[in-house]
Amino acid sequence: MKPKTKIQKEVARLSANLRPISATQIDWAYRHCVEHIGYRTKKGNITCSDCGHEWHSDSGLCDTLEGCTCPKCHAELKVQDTRRRIYKETQNFSVITTCKGYQVIRVAQVRCESRKGEPMRFYCHEVVQRWISPDGKVTDMALLRGFLFCYCDVWALGSDMEVRPHNSLYDDVVARSCAYPKMRILPQLRRNGFKGDFHGISPVRLFKALLSDPRIETLMKGGEIEVMKHFLFNTRTADECWASYLIAKRHKYQIDNLSMWCDYLRMLKKLGQDLRNPKNICPEDFMAAHDNATRKIEAIHEKERAAEQRR
Ligand SMILES: [Zn+2]
Ligand SMILES: [Zn+2]
Repeated sequence: MKPKTKIQKEVARLSANLRPISATQIDWAYRHCVEHIGYRTKKGNITCSDCGHEWHSDSGLCDTLEGCTCPKCHAELKVQDTRRRIYKETQNFSVITTCKGYQVIRVAQVRCESRKGEPMRFYCHEVVQRWISPDGKVTDMALLRGFLFCYCDVWALGSDMEVRPHNSLYDDVVARSCAYPKMRILPQLRRNGFKGDFHGISPVRLFKALLSDPRIETLMKGGEIEVMKHFLFNTRTADECWASYLIAKRHKYQIDNLSMWCDYLRMLKKLGQDLRNPKNICPEDFMAAHDNATRKIEAIHEKERAAEQRR
């Protein structure tokens, strides 16, 4: 796709000048993202998947439990009793970096092919880049997908890294990738509370929210991670309950079960009650108040059904 908007043009230009993923980063992916196997025969001979070296080991059970180290190339191997001679694995790994004011997440596909007795072949191809602007807008660069096959990792590796319309697949590859531990982070993200921990959230999703949603920023800074996650994954609930949440906090109200409390607020709203009044939203006995509201809602439904039948 030809870049059209100003931001797309800028991203395309910056991306073309980005240095390739470094040898150190690729080496890390080789060590950490794919399995390294010691193929073991019945007789106790182990063959290293990395360099192809074969040796005899007598520490059978110990090797199985703790893995072993290849005496030749010193790779840490996971020992498998197998007659299999070929092992293939494909994974994604990501490098989190910055470029000219953008937070960039680069995803590379790594693929290993090992044949027993031969050195492992390892390939690394960058397939997706997500460029997040300081106001949280995401521009996607990617290779072309082979759309002939449905859900397999088939990228057209010869295609160009181009600006492309958003595809949920780009979210998936980021979410399923292991991240290179050395990260470069925009100062805006650090200022908004990011300290290096993703709390199980995909980096693109978290960064985008931290840069564009002041609620997420507030919760992150306050260390209220569980609440942050709940509101991040339930944006509608956040829209409905945020103002009340702040009021409840100000009144030092202890919310034990956030999703139940938001559910309670929705009922209060249906009952026409003021969601900014702490008397309503901070009940002393929460469970009793919740039950009470549930009964009132149920009574309304009952009335409606009766009216329906009389007609
Ligand atoms: Zn022996
Ligand atoms: Zn080896």
